[in-house]
Amino acid sequence: MVISHPPSVITAAVFDTKPYDRQALQRASVNRDIEWHFLEFRLTEDTASAARNARAVCVFVNDQLDRSCLEVLVKQGVELVTLRCTGFNNVDVDAAKELKLTVTRVPVYSPHAVAEHAVALLLTLNRKIHRAFNRVRELNFSLNGLEGFDLHSKTAGIVGTGKIGQVTGQILRGFGMRVLAYDLFPNHDWAEQIGAEYAETVSTLLRNSDVISLHTPLTPETKYTIRAETIGLMKPGSILINVSRGALVDTKALIKALKSGRLAGVGLDVYEEEEGIFFEDLSGGVLHDDELARLLTFPNVLITSHQAFLTREALNEIACTTVANISALSGKKPFVDGSVVT
Ligand code: NAD
Repeated sequence: MVISHPPSVITAAVFDTKPYDRQALQRASVNRDIEWHFLEFRLTEDTASAARNARAVCVFVNDQLDRSCLEVLVKQGVELVTLRCTGFNNVDVDAAKELKLTVTRVPVYSPHAVAEHAVALLLTLNRKIHRAFNRVRELNFSLNGLEGFDLHSKTAGIVGTGKIGQVTGQILRGFGMRVLAYDLFPNHDWAEQIGAEYAETVSTLLRNSDVISLHTPLTPETKYTIRAETIGLMKPGSILINVSRGALVDTKALIKALKSGRLAGVGLDVYEEEEGIFFEDLSGGVLHDDELARLLTFPNVLITSHQAFLTREALNEIACTTVANISALSGKKPFVDGSVVT
């Protein structure tokens, strides 16, 4: 049976959806003329045909919007791709422009959610809460090996002082840390306001920081910001936190450094090869990614599955921006300010 909708109803195919996405989008679209097609699988060239009849396609961080995928979407009449995230490194932007496909993202959604998760990873790692939690449950009340260090008076290196980096720096200043920052476009007002300093180069930041937190987008320039050469600059015993994008860190080099005992801890919410692994329940199967498997063996590595965004507030803001951008296809209202990528 073919279901026909009044022309004002906009059909949106939503890829890679989980129950929390569905609930948030449905809540945000009450009284809006949007017909949702929720799909659990990711968008690739091979799955793009599932968007037939949709004017809008809604995707997340691990959907693959390369040229061939975008071509299939456009051939089927898709006019808009809305990303439910900030980063758009998974979209071939040049191809989208050529194909006259509008791409929007969520420019701001609770930077606090992501920054607070970065700090949660740092505190857990440093004070070894993950190990203490397991020990106590087995009635092992020994403290041996659980020593951390005071964050107070130590230096936090914030690479990328956009929305999330700024909040992270501000929280860490609250612990009495010195904040050393690096950004292509330094924000001196923010630095003055919270009492942070900018380093001239990433190398200076890495040499002088006890904790390093990455907050740049993934671009050709930022890929492998942390690699063998730059790990060599880091203070022995420092902690690295990455809640930004996996490929900011060269995993092979990281594993080597961890094996040598150079780093006190590594907290990752993102992983270079996370696609197809993160967000999924693979607990009954075999993990085929040997590097991830190796990372999971280190007691001083803490991995979460790209969950830094997962707060009520962030989900709500993501859903509201997405719904507003899909509704903008009706031509009655503009796209959300700052959300248009192409
Ligand atoms: P933003 O655009 O506000 O800030 C990014 C900052 O990086 C900017 O100040 C920019 O000048 C700087 N930058 C860009 N290229 C640089 C370079 N080569 N060298 C130095 N600085 C550079 O972005 P944001 O909202 O703070 O988000 C940052 C990143 O966090 C996103 O791109 C995304 O990858 C990631 N993120 C992750 C999650 C998660 O759930 N784990 C959620 C949201 C965002």
